[in-house]
Amino acid sequence: MNRPWKPLLTGSLQTQALEAAEAIVRDTAELPLGKVPGLIAGHTGYALFFEAAARALAPKWIDLAARSLQRAAALFTRRTPPPLSLHEGLAGMGWAAAHLSARYPDLDVEELCVWVDESLEVELNRSPWPHPCDIRDGLAGMGLYAAKRMPHPNGRRLLAQAVDRAREVAEHSASGASWRMPRGRWSLYGKDAQFPQGLYTLGLAHGIPGALCLLSLAHAHGVSLDVTRPLLEEGFRWVAHRAEPGHPRFPHYMHGLEHVTDERFSWCVGNPGITAALWWAARTWKDPHWEARTLEWATRVAVEALERPPSLSANLCCGTAGTAHLYVRLYQATGVSVFGEAAQRWIEHTLSLRQPGQGPGGYCFEQDPSSPLTDVQFGAAGIALMLLAAATDQSPDWDETFLFSLGSPSSSPEV
Ligand SMILES: [Zn+2]
Repeated sequence: MNRPWKPLLTGSLQTQALEAAEAIVRDTAELPLGKVPGLIAGHTGYALFFEAAARALAPKWIDLAARSLQRAAALFTRRTPPPLSLHEGLAGMGWAAAHLSARYPDLDVEELCVWVDESLEVELNRSPWPHPCDIRDGLAGMGLYAAKRMPHPNGRRLLAQAVDRAREVAEHSASGASWRMPRGRWSLYGKDAQFPQGLYTLGLAHGIPGALCLLSLAHAHGVSLDVTRPLLEEGFRWVAHRAEPGHPRFPHYMHGLEHVTDERFSWCVGNPGITAALWWAARTWKDPHWEARTLEWATRVAVEALERPPSLSANLCCGTAGTAHLYVRLYQATGVSVFGEAAQRWIEHTLSLRQPGQGPGGYCFEQDPSSPLTDVQFGAAGIALMLLAAATDQSPDWDETFLFSLGSPSSSPEV
């Protein structure tokens, strides 16, 4: 049973957060938003952003949400073939369409979703699987759409296919099961990077926690239980072997058995994102042992978040808003006070980076003041989404698309 969403912020911080979010929404609505269709950098993301603004601030923004979704669909039809991933492709548009239509039944998205289903069905039948296991480009992202599409039978079928691919590409060793980054993506870690011992990523955006979230979600939906249960057990065991005692200090990635760390302390890379997603996976799986273990890891990292110097960017991906939102969510779900304290500290950092008069709502002008970033991943929209979640009673249910949360089958949005 999910608890009703409560604002974390009160008093002047709440007022500041609301004022900043309102300014971002107002400014973004006035700007040309480009021709990118996808979720993290384009119109699918703006659909989720304006919908959240409509619930939290003013109903008028819902028109822009619907228009953004239409624009995303029109732009995707011009791509041949369209990309398929959750973050940049059709799976993301399908997720947003299914999500919005659950709350606004008059929004007819069936044709869109059938297009997404048919495209993903072909891709998810590819064997050997050519993509990563991750949320951003790979299997976890496509599986997340499939779960969102349920109870439609296409959703269940696609989710079972995704689990099948996860089973096929899992590597088994004495320390458990893991998923290797395909050679075609090694360039993520440097132009000519070579990983003859194999590349295994822990960082949330491109990493193995995504595979565990996919398997736990399938498990919660009762899909392919004979596969999900043992693979979850083995996958968590592999991850635990990478953790140090106490603070887990997970590496960003591993080249074979060599740990490679990264200074970022964020959603995409670093222990805040990794430990939060592992907790959501364990909780969705409903495994008491791993739920307790992952909560312990997440708590140790949150204690570090109380001391850690903040990043100088405010965005949701690598910046302060992403770290804040991880802890907003964990606090709401668990009531553990250190998560609330960490959330508040990183929200304060985020608000301190605001410079009214520059960029949308005072944000994301640093790289190019003449063309500030507006999108969800690196732009002001993502910052507003976090601030609205922290300052209002409206659940940020857009955030499953980043694995900031993971929904059980009973947590579809209230209509
Ligand atoms: Zn990032």
